[in-house]
Amino acid sequence: MKLSIVVPVYNEEESIEIFIKEVEEKTKSLPLEKIFYFVNDGSTDKTLKIIKKLAEKRDDIQYISFSRNFGKEAALLAGLEVAVGDFVTIMDVDLQDPPEMLPEMFEKLQEGYDVVGTRRTSRTGEPPIRSFFAKLFYKIINKISKTQIVDGARDYRLMTRQVVDSILKLQESNRFSKGLFSWVGYEVTYLEYENRERSRGQTSWSFWSLLRYSVDGFVNFSELPLNIATFVGILCFFISANCKMKLATLSQAKNI
Ligand code: UDP
Ligand code: MG
Repeated sequence: MKLSIVVPVYNEEESIEIFIKEVEEKTKSLPLEKIFYFVNDGSTDKTLKIIKKLAEKRDDIQYISFSRNFGKEAALLAGLEVAVGDFVTIMDVDLQDPPEMLPEMFEKLQEGYDVVGTRRTSRTGEPPIRSFFAKLFYKIINKISKTQIVDGARDYRLMTRQVVDSILKLQESNRFSKGLFSWVGYEVTYLEYENRERSRGQTSWSFWSLLRYSVDGFVNFSELPLNIATFVGILCFFISANCKMKLATLSQAKNI
């Protein structure tokens, strides 16, 4: 049985080799043949060069490379599209997704679950402003969306082939994976862990990219923004119709 490990990477030259070594070491007990699928998301450092070199030497390391930076969501989709095998996992390359959890996640699949997700129970080490907005985001989206988005849930998850195929059937072009993963349903369980800091490098998410990401979440998984736009449209129509009527009466009065 095969496990594909999908890894989006953007300017991660320092992390790739450490990541592969760590995953191999921590998943020795997994009775699965592993294949790494790196998705180079338009890196401008030596990321692509390093991946190419590794892929030349090893059949279990494959890669796709984007012509520019399209964002993690696009990289995840491309990775899931090429991933083969009975099981697929998604992991960040910075080791914030603990690889030692994979054997336990696999055990859960054996118990009958289709998806084993992971959830951070803390955000220690993260800038407080980012934690504040993240908490606010989860609170709002879970109030206005019918799709449950678990607070602290990571993209790091282990899925069966059937689940991956269902996700790939969704034709959304502006993807908000956290929502799509939840929307497809299936038997899902979450394993929890304490937040980890990045092993190397820096996060590439700026405040604005996170804000755009959360707006995507709201727009894709709630009708509220559309309803607000409709309501504002109708309100504008009545206000302008009322103004027009007043103007017409005024000009009529002047003619008299
Ligand atoms: N990443 C990506 N494209 C981007 C930004 C990030 O492929 O535009 C990758 C990155 O290399 C890493 C993962 O997505 O493997 C998570 O990124 P990061 O650690 O910067 O996010 P954070 O952990 O701060 O949420
Ligand atoms: Mg990270």
